[in-house]
Amino acid sequence: MTNRVVLIGHPVAHSFSGGMQQAAFDALGVDARYELWDRRQIDLAEAIAELRGDDFLGANVTIPHKEHVVPMMDRLTEDAQATGAVNVIAREGKKLVGHNTDVTGFKAALDKIVGRQKMPRHAVVLGAGGASRAVVSALISDGFQRIVIFNRHLHRAEALVRHFNRSASHMDLRAMPWHESVLEAELSKTKVLVNATALGMAPGETPIPAELLPPDLFVIDLIYNPPLTQLLKDATSARDTVMGGELMLLQQGARAFELWTGKPAPIDVMQAELDRAREHGVRPLPVDMGSAAAPGVADTTGGAAAGQSA
Ligand code: NAP
Repeated sequence: MTNRVVLIGHPVAHSFSGGMQQAAFDALGVDARYELWDRRQIDLAEAIAELRGDDFLGANVTIPHKEHVVPMMDRLTEDAQATGAVNVIAREGKKLVGHNTDVTGFKAALDKIVGRQKMPRHAVVLGAGGASRAVVSALISDGFQRIVIFNRHLHRAEALVRHFNRSASHMDLRAMPWHESVLEAELSKTKVLVNATALGMAPGETPIPAELLPPDLFVIDLIYNPPLTQLLKDATSARDTVMGGELMLLQQGARAFELWTGKPAPIDVMQAELDRAREHGVRPLPVDMGSAAAPGVADTTGGAAAGQSA
């Protein structure tokens, strides 16, 4: 029996995850097929129920369902509970377990760029969606003492702060309105800037004008396509102080592979597939549009134009 792993989201066709996971299955001889399930929220419960079938190893969950699937799980891991978001579902017998491997992925990126360098543990995070929750959770557990969230819609940033109320009680976590003067003042006091918004996928687009970026800032952009966003170009004062989203994508995917298969992930194979996808577009995978439209096959035009998700 060929096992199945699915990506559940809306839209799904431009994700790099499927090709990366299928390449890993193929390289290790795991008899599994990665499918893309485009599901609207109204069809979500049915899709999750289907995962209980014996042929499923599990699933990835992406925009906009990472928070919606939380109450549908039988158990949540600590990271999923802390973030209130699930990006990977794995099975324990008949039970569905919700994980958040975006936290693991972001920790790897943070570790690589900042490590244990001595500096004030202060960060500015742009965005308040699912990815921002993973970032904030990782920063809190890394010992950051002050984290300021800016988001286009302030109320969403405030909700995020409320969500972390208890785990952030020992430190300063706050939401601030997205005004240039407020941003500039806050950036002058910080060492780490994380872009967890979708702003930067289009050429030249950036969440922050170059002149607002102080020198010596560590900048992590979660966007992985393009690999060097305008924000990172503007911030590149020294080569090792900026990082795109690819390492996070790779590491969250490696952890997911291990959860589904019980095998160590073939990192080199997965990285090679990401390189290939960036160059030539995403691999065609079976697409199931659910009730949204007729079945078809994903196009191969790459992710930047139509949006991307892990
Ligand atoms: P999400 O839940 O849909 O949140 C999107 C965020 O972007 C929100 O904060 C939203 O602000 C903001 N935003 C979108 N369009 C904007 C605009 N025109 N102007 C200002 N703000 C805008 O998505 P998500 O899952 O958090 O993902 C956010 C980003 O992280 C995406 O680019 C995604 O590709 C990336 N990501 C990367 C990885 C990785 O492994 N590298 C993993 C997960 C996500 P509002 O709340 O005001 O709408």
